[in-house]
Amino acid sequence: MRAHERREVALSDPALPPLREVIARHGLGARKSLGQHFLLDLNLTARIARAAGDLEHGTTIEVGPGPGGLTRGLLAEGAAQVVAIEKDPRCLAALAELAAAYPGRLEIVAGDALNVDVAGLGAPPRSIVANLPYNVATPLLVSWLGAIARTPDCFANLVLMFQKEVADRLTAAPGTKAYGRIGVLAQWLCEVRPLFDVPARAFTPPPRVTSSVVGFYPRPHPLAPARLETLERVTAAAFGQRRKMLRQSLKTLDVDPAPLIAAAGVPETARAEELDVVAFCAMARALDETAGGWG
Ligand code: SAM
Repeated sequence: MRAHERREVALSDPALPPLREVIARHGLGARKSLGQHFLLDLNLTARIARAAGDLEHGTTIEVGPGPGGLTRGLLAEGAAQVVAIEKDPRCLAALAELAAAYPGRLEIVAGDALNVDVAGLGAPPRSIVANLPYNVATPLLVSWLGAIARTPDCFANLVLMFQKEVADRLTAAPGTKAYGRIGVLAQWLCEVRPLFDVPARAFTPPPRVTSSVVGFYPRPHPLAPARLETLERVTAAAFGQRRKMLRQSLKTLDVDPAPLIAAAGVPETARAEELDVVAFCAMARALDETAGGWG
């Protein structure tokens, strides 16, 4: 959608009550157990929605719409079809009001997103756009990476807000302190780009830390061949004892580490953070060639 068309969509948006009023009327006091930190600044939610690019085709999936601030941003930016999964039943009436204001464009799924096959929701192309609940952000991302490993084109892109510390790990390069298992897995399957930071004061209630929006753009093919499960095992072993040399840390795999390290083309004295994603894939393939690879 072009900018002037977007503006027309925005101008024709229904008049909606302020989010603070929605929160008060529906008694949506934030619950820590659900990672609830709401965005009430509609300029910011529009910025996050725009970061996802063209939402005019296919389905935009939002996890944790809460009172609907980001959902409003997605709809106002022209998302053709939004499917929003919310675990907190208290939010459902507020979200139903939003769905009524945008007839046929917003579907609410009540439940735990960890139990939803997100890759099968709505028509492709699918984008996931979410201000993730911090307590389940990593397991959710890992499950979506699993879906991408099975079907690389299941998502066109993912625009996700994390605590900045998690975002830094996702985008970290080899040789840095933040580089670790989740960064290897994410970068193996996706181009991962840091987009922008969001200060704690932008949320109600404010979290203790800064947040960051990260864009994930699934690669047509992973960076190098490997089985996801084996790559998970190898990275878990290597980064599980990241200060140790690989010849030591990989012993937890119960195979001789030497051929794996040789396959990666690094010295046995190397440590996990020195290896790039392609080297980890080489170790995963070498592990699969041993009897232990399928354990
Ligand atoms: N999108 C809203 C916003 O930006 O203002 C709320 C974001 S808040 C950080 C996280 C939301 O995720 C909350 O509405 C919370 O109830 C919801 N949530 C928490 N755990 C969830 C889960 N497992 N499945 C689906 N939604 C969940």
